[in-house]
Amino acid sequence: VGGGLAGSEAALNLAQRGITVALYEMRPETPTAVHHTGYLAELVCSNSLKSTKPDSAAGLLKHELDTLSSPLLALARQSAVPAGGALAVDRVKFAQAVTHAVEQHPLISVHHEEVSDIAFLATSCDALMLASGPLTSDALSRSLMDLTGCDALAFYDAAAPVVMADSLNYEKIFRQSRYEEAGEGGDYLNAAFTKSEYDAFIEELLGAERVIAKDFETKELFQACQPIEEIARAGHDAPRFGTMKPVGLTDPATGKRPWAALQLRAEDAFGSSYNLVGFQTNLTFPEQRRVFRMIPGLEEAEFARYGVMHRNTFIDAPRLLNADAQLVSEPALALKTPVYVIGQLAGTEGYTEAIRSGLHGALSVAARLQGVTLPALPRDTVFGALMAYATNPATVQYQPMHVNFGLLRPLDTPIRNKKARYEAYAARANAALDAYVEALKAKLLLD
Ligand SMILES: Cc1cc2nc3c(=O)[nH]c(=O)nc-3n(C[C@H](O)[C@H](O)[C@H](O)COP(=O)(O)OP(=O)(O)OC[C@H]3O[C@@H](n4cnc5c(N)ncnc54)[C@H](O)[C@@H]3O)c2cc1C
Repeated sequence: VGGGLAGSEAALNLAQRGITVALYEMRPETPTAVHHTGYLAELVCSNSLKSTKPDSAAGLLKHELDTLSSPLLALARQSAVPAGGALAVDRVKFAQAVTHAVEQHPLISVHHEEVSDIAFLATSCDALMLASGPLTSDALSRSLMDLTGCDALAFYDAAAPVVMADSLNYEKIFRQSRYEEAGEGGDYLNAAFTKSEYDAFIEELLGAERVIAKDFETKELFQACQPIEEIARAGHDAPRFGTMKPVGLTDPATGKRPWAALQLRAEDAFGSSYNLVGFQTNLTFPEQRRVFRMIPGLEEAEFARYGVMHRNTFIDAPRLLNADAQLVSEPALALKTPVYVIGQLAGTEGYTEAIRSGLHGALSVAARLQGVTLPALPRDTVFGALMAYATNPATVQYQPMHVNFGLLRPLDTPIRNKKARYEAYAARANAALDAYVEALKAKLLLD
């Protein structure tokens, strides 16, 4: 259910294995607030599938997809446009190529219908996969709530971006809590702005491209929780008197209070990533990267998560999914047919993550239909680490997340140099992937 990135990948992967697939996609008859076409696998915002660098988390994710013969990644490469060290696609060409590949496959039938009753649909198949994404329709959300026992799945998500700690410039960023002496420690990192840096930042913030959200998507949210660009629109100095206020801070570089400051708060216990406090935003992902990298000390920032302001539907994966992406709530297990949840609905964020999640779900279903146990996802790969975190019952208040090195287990021997550390993560991930591939081959799940 859902012909987005995860659903299209799963459908093609299963069909290539000789498994018959009925794919339900509600567009174009029933639109969402952000999709514009009736194509499958439409990219709703940026056209980038991110870095191809072999020692980056995004690059490793692509290597996993290539190694496991992802149909969508191959189509993305065929639709690529020049983008330096990243894989970006011509979005129309890509969506058309996926739509064509799915529609012309003799084992896939595409039904342009909104699914609203999971239990009913489950009576007509051997396995059911839900891939309806962050904008899952209301009727399907209600049906899923019946299956999960949860009273809410859709949230107005107003999250600030999260950046990786080791991508910050500590010659500029300093640690201090307000009203404490610098150098005494403190829970916050601070990025100090001079007047000219602040003025230039606000100018770019106001001109930046936003995700066009329909009124009904944003009205309720914006009253409660203003995005940083809206605060700036209310007045050039408004952020400086609000979330970017410099009071109680002393920049060690000047010994003075800065003109304005952004505070960063640790996102996890290891301090491997930091949240940009009060910077919930409706800017597109590429614009967040461009504009927030103007913040002094964030020039090279890597984003573990971009800020989002839209309706976001996802299940409480740590309590509801097993490692095979199967829904394990009591009502779901009581159905005759196993139900799998993939893509952003299952707690991944990002295009490439959704594709990888679709591939994982397809492998789970194929293993089940072949009557074999799916080899465990290796935790040292970037997707394995994301799934381990997302399905660990000890994870509280889980939010959909990108793959990132912060989720990997620390190296046995710590390496201080960042480049060498990332190369070591990559080498360990690739060795784990090789072993996984062998295990899949042994179960006849991969050629
Ligand atoms: C506004 C916005 C901007 C984003 N920008 C980016 C970005 O720039 N870069 C990035 O990497 N990620 C971005 N993301 C995240 C990214 O969209 C998702 O991670 C990814 O598309 C999710 O893939 P998916 O397959 O889970 O869902 P989708 O790609 O959304 O696919 C789900 C499909 O299910 C269909 N559907 C929903 N309900 C039903 C139903 N009841 N019956 C049948 N079909 C149904 C939908 O029409 C849709 O086609 C953004 C998300 C949003 C909401």
